[in-house]
Amino acid sequence: MRLIFLGPPGAGKGTQARTLAEAEGIPQIATGDMLRDAAARGTRLGLEAKSYMDRGALVPDEVVVGLVAERLEAPDATKGFVLDGFPRTLAQAEALERMLKDRDLAVERVIYFEVSERELLRRLTGRRVCRQCQSAYQLVSAPPKREGRCDRCGGELYQREDDSEAAVRRRLEVYAAQTKPLLEYYRGRGVLTTVVGEGAPAAIGSAIRRAI
Ligand code: AMP
Repeated sequence: MRLIFLGPPGAGKGTQARTLAEAEGIPQIATGDMLRDAAARGTRLGLEAKSYMDRGALVPDEVVVGLVAERLEAPDATKGFVLDGFPRTLAQAEALERMLKDRDLAVERVIYFEVSERELLRRLTGRRVCRQCQSAYQLVSAPPKREGRCDRCGGELYQREDDSEAAVRRRLEVYAAQTKPLLEYYRGRGVLTTVVGEGAPAAIGSAIRRAI
């Protein structure tokens, strides 16, 4: 199972990728999580990435492609993977295609999460994320049982710096300009399926299952 979850920030890719990856025993490869982790550890790469992330810009292709190439080499990725938040540019998509082709592999299915801009803004500005396990909550529609604490692991919930309204607007612009063209790229390869990303998470999960 070699899958890509594609869609704007706040579309629910991470939540669905985590559930599916756990159920299938394959890794969720989330470049945003990997970059935030590197930033929190204070590595050179992480600090460089943080300056882009905090203002809602994309981290340069060569940095992200390098991270993903290394991650795909790990033994657990041989069974398959869910790429969440990668690729985000045409250059990244082409680099991924080359990486897989070198091993006679290809992406099997790309799930596009369709969500209205109004809903994305609402979700992102009210989003809180667990520092430990990265589970996401929504203050209005999916709050944690105990305020400020993760239901799954008890970790502390925080608001990502790039979930401020200004950064969210910038991220949506960047998405429209740089990532949206990937829809045509994957449609042309016959692997794109659109899933409506609004409604109950379990129903969205079932739609993804049907698509794969
Ligand atoms: P995410 O958690 O997927 O919303 O990603 C958060 C931020 O990390 C993005 O706004 C970018 O700054 C950076 N990022 C994550 N994935 C990529 C990628 N594939 N290419 C470039 N930047 C990325």
